[in-house]
Amino acid sequence: MTRSTAIVTGAARGIGLATTDLFRAEGRRVAMIDRDADELEKVAAERDNVIAIACDVSDPDQVDAMVRTARAELGEVHALVNNAGVAEFGPIDDCDFRMWRRVMATNLDGVFLCSQALAPALKEVKGAIVNIASISGLRASTLRVAYGTSKAAVIHLTQQQAAEWGEWGVRANAVCPGPVRTKLAMAVHTQEIIDAYHDAIPLNRYGSEQEIGELITFLCSDRASYVTGQCIAADGGFQSTGVGLPALRR
Ligand code: NAD
Repeated sequence: MTRSTAIVTGAARGIGLATTDLFRAEGRRVAMIDRDADELEKVAAERDNVIAIACDVSDPDQVDAMVRTARAELGEVHALVNNAGVAEFGPIDDCDFRMWRRVMATNLDGVFLCSQALAPALKEVKGAIVNIASISGLRASTLRVAYGTSKAAVIHLTQQQAAEWGEWGVRANAVCPGPVRTKLAMAVHTQEIIDAYHDAIPLNRYGSEQEIGELITFLCSDRASYVTGQCIAADGGFQSTGVGLPALRR
């Protein structure tokens, strides 16, 4: 089967934009989704083989309208990448309910809503879902009560999707990026944090948007046709190191 289309949320910049370009290089037509309508319009105008749909993925009505437009424009939907995400960090004691809900609304509700609304289209063609979680959903850390919990939930939601939609041939996998120098990360990473990550990551560096996108597009491709319900980190080895104390290496 020709896998000729994809929908990418949070596509206006960062990992979503890099993934859009990798799909385009495979010859796929991409529906780029983002709530930042101005930036989305700008980057979409610079690319061929894309359509741009402004949508806040945490709003059920906007998601329904987005799905109607995307299905009408693309015809078949072969892949959905739930990448839109927000990061707000702070101690548990300072995370008020509004901050908790802001993070959950995009990072968790958005994945649930877009996947559910696109499930009928994905079932028609045995499509693939890739949900973007995080190493923060695999390992707990300070300041990430909302972000880390939302990403851990995305990993479980992925397994639910794989379990329920497998009988239609729909595959669902999660990708857990390590740190990437995007606007999202740089808003919460000081130089001290950057240095500490370099120390803790076996490959001693941040990843690039493209390195994350390569795993996402692989999981959406027929080369991954027997892979579903999995959570794969692209993190320079961060998750694999149990007692990865920098002091032990010196
Ligand atoms: P980014 O901030 O550069 O891009 C995120 C995009 O999502 C933006 O264009 C933003 O407008 C859009 N977006 C946010 N909320 C939205 C909503 N409700 N509806 C529609 N669009 C929305 O971030 P990024 O670093 O490219 O992150 C992409 C994904 O990767 C996120 O899910 C993030 O949590 C995850 N991630 C990033 C890192 C990292 O270090 N950069 C690490 C682990 C996981």
